[in-house]
Amino acid sequence: MARHTLLIDADDTLWENNIFFEKTIDNFIASLEHLGYTREYVRHILNETERRNIRQHGYGVRSFGRSLEETYLKLAGNSAQRDVVKGIEQIVRELENTPPHILDGVPETLAYLAKHHRLILLSKGEAAEQAAKVERSGLQSYFDAIEIVLEKDPETYGRVIDSFKIVKSHGWMIGNSPRSDINPALQSGLNAVFIPHPSTWQLEHAELESGTGKLLIVSAFRELRAHF
Ligand SMILES: [Mg+2]
Repeated sequence: MARHTLLIDADDTLWENNIFFEKTIDNFIASLEHLGYTREYVRHILNETERRNIRQHGYGVRSFGRSLEETYLKLAGNSAQRDVVKGIEQIVRELENTPPHILDGVPETLAYLAKHHRLILLSKGEAAEQAAKVERSGLQSYFDAIEIVLEKDPETYGRVIDSFKIVKSHGWMIGNSPRSDINPALQSGLNAVFIPHPSTWQLEHAELESGTGKLLIVSAFRELRAHF
């Protein structure tokens, strides 16, 4: 097989990410029970607040913490308490310090892929935060480059294709998010591998679209070995 360029997503593709956010959100919603809103409503307000903050401040733990705080202040109104805000700051710090939990089969599969192909980690988020996660993961050495971007849209893929001189027919985006990894990559003329993760963030959900490139769907990271 020819040498291909594999752009590989990080959160919920190489390591667990969303389960820790979901756990934090569960605790957050439980701590707001006394306000008398349904869980669904609190989650809806949080999602709306996150969408707004992502547009303004990007992805990342700090943007998420800001969303939790604003959601609380909005729902609590005049009864908001300083202690609860402090509690939110604490759970966000814990989330930030959670060590990466590498998904099953990832290191050995990356070791195999790196021998045959060019690997580029493509993650979106806050640069320093994502870089720290990559470093703590111990997976950095398998990659020719680490690219941390603000958003994964067709413009970003176009820029990555240009700057890494990727031949589109030999370029693949591999990840768990239809919205950020698969659809915009296919739209940019790349091929894609979708590896669904059972706990993919609600804001990443989308219908899979098709493009000119190929789309593979595999159920686990280690299955990449059979295709590359
Ligand atoms: Mg992901």
